[in-house]
Amino acid sequence: MTLKGKTALVTGSTSGIGLGIALKLAEAGADLVLNGFGDAPAAVAQVAQYGGRVVHHPADMADPQAIAGMIDFALAEFGAVDILINNAGIQHVAAVEDFPVERWDAIIAINLSAVFHTTRLALPGMRERGWGRIINVASVHGLVGSREKAAYVAAKHGVLGLTKVVALETATTAITCNALCPGWVLTPLVQQQIDERSARLGDADAAREGLLAEKQPSLAFVEPAQLGELTLFLCSDAAAQVRGAAWNMDGGWAAQ
Ligand code: NAD
Repeated sequence: MTLKGKTALVTGSTSGIGLGIALKLAEAGADLVLNGFGDAPAAVAQVAQYGGRVVHHPADMADPQAIAGMIDFALAEFGAVDILINNAGIQHVAAVEDFPVERWDAIIAINLSAVFHTTRLALPGMRERGWGRIINVASVHGLVGSREKAAYVAAKHGVLGLTKVVALETATTAITCNALCPGWVLTPLVQQQIDERSARLGDADAAREGLLAEKQPSLAFVEPAQLGELTLFLCSDAAAQVRGAAWNMDGGWAAQ
């Protein structure tokens, strides 16, 4: 499959899963708009190794105006957003009665509302051009709950609901909307949870193994590149009738 001539925008693609997906899309020939904080020049250099055009936009996914600026920028640079990957996300772990209100608001804004904003702004262009792929990086936490993750679980369940509605509203077109539901992937977002566990246990290996053993029957992390390959499949013609799916890649987590 080639994505030559297509433009993909991946939110939160300076690290982790977003970067893994951006690399696969670039390898398949797409031009890329990256987004996210941290070392953007390093991410751009990595993705650019495949020879396509790559730009970065620093929009904060908590800010609807900045999101609109990012979509305008992508359209001005490339004339299209053909593939939209909603991936940016944050986590906070606390019991619901101790959950900081400011963290709740930030998680709902970045993990859920941003998906609404990018989608509503990118869809008109996809309809005009008669093709599109919207892939929302939800989580196994869109399907099941876990203690102390109220905002994250609520946001990810919301993303799956939004995915279904967008899939229905585009069902008779060549635009599809689906969600990925990863289990544990070893990224900075999860490393932070391993570090907290490690501080309690005083043993980094035991912290990592315990985190997997609690939830993920395979006892192995999902790789960003594997999520990138699933993304390529969802961008292919073979996936033209995959609509509104919540596709888990979770080492068996949700099978329990
Ligand atoms: P990560 O921390 O490695 O990457 C998050 C990315 O989002 C980074 O590029 C970061 O700069 C960006 N980001 C954070 N806040 C932002 C904001 N306000 N505006 C713009 N960009 C912002 O995390 P990850 O593990 O790669 O997570 C990516 C997505 O995958 C998230 O939606 C997360 O919920 C989801 N997910 C992760 C796992 C896992 O085990 N790591 C499992 C299931 C789902």
